[in-house]
Amino acid sequence: MIVVMKHNASAKEISDVISRIRADGYEAHLSEGEERTVIGVVGESPTPLREDNYSAMDGVDSVVRISVPYKLASREFHPADSIVPLNGTGAGSNQIVVIAGPCSVESREQIIETACAVKEAGATALRGGAFKPRTSPYSFQGHGEKALQWLAEARERTGLPIVTEVMDTTQIEMVCEYADVLQIGARNMQNFSLLHAVGESQFPVLLKRGMASTMEDLLMSAEYILSHGNNRVILCERGIRTFEKYTRNTFDVNAIPVLKARTHLPVIADPSHAVGYWEYVEAIARSAIAAGADGLIVEVHPEPDKALSDGRQSLTYKRFRSMMEQVARVAQAVGRTA
Ligand code: PEP
Ligand code: MN
Repeated sequence: MIVVMKHNASAKEISDVISRIRADGYEAHLSEGEERTVIGVVGESPTPLREDNYSAMDGVDSVVRISVPYKLASREFHPADSIVPLNGTGAGSNQIVVIAGPCSVESREQIIETACAVKEAGATALRGGAFKPRTSPYSFQGHGEKALQWLAEARERTGLPIVTEVMDTTQIEMVCEYADVLQIGARNMQNFSLLHAVGESQFPVLLKRGMASTMEDLLMSAEYILSHGNNRVILCERGIRTFEKYTRNTFDVNAIPVLKARTHLPVIADPSHAVGYWEYVEAIARSAIAAGADGLIVEVHPEPDKALSDGRQSLTYKRFRSMMEQVARVAQAVGRTA
């Protein structure tokens, strides 16, 4: 349920509603829009929620039941787009954000050099895995804390904020020391203890869609993070598993406008994992922006043929520059800036 306050509701009227919600045994989440304040009522309590009681309170305009299972993530709760600040701009703003870098941080030189190259091409943030979720336990698992230190050095050199994956609750503290955004990978989208913990961290989160997850599953996972009062969540469509064999995954372009309609959270796309082959990455990136994505996360490597992970889908610097030019033109065509 959400309680929509009148546009001229006083601070006392708002706090009275919050106190009443708490007295009834629920949690109150405040969303202060330009027009009016909305209070989300979530949680479980033996006390039934009586809409009439809340409607009768001073300063209350209306009381609405949210029909979808995700509440704080829904557009009903927060009609305006949420903007997650990133490097002087924001994911969800009119400007397209581009997070670029290698799949894995392989060496100090590799990450610093790539950071400089993607920055020069106009990237907003740097990506790079220190902890890698690999299908095989014998594949490269990431350089861990050493990689985080190299990422921080790359940030010092370029000013690009760091987006990096956290795979486990025990890694959060360490990753937060170096990162600017915590990435939750597709394989962990429904790791509920991890979602609780990154929610509690109050750190910005990039939440990737699970490879066999519905859009509703993704929104419910975002709800876990939001339920801790951490509103800085960016959603990412990164392709889903289908019967198709010619691509690594199937990019679900539907997810872009549908998620944008259902949630206020920014939605970006990962064309690299979505398609799996560098030849097609640029086309998928263009389609994502055309469909209304707020940005991209893209794999870029100095020498894709020598990459320790995901070389097949990694762009060279030159190809990344070309993608950036193309994306800027599409962004302009749909009324966005790049
Ligand atoms: C990655 O970003 O390198 C990655 C492992 O992505 P995903 O979790 O989407 O597979
Ligand atoms: Mn990868």
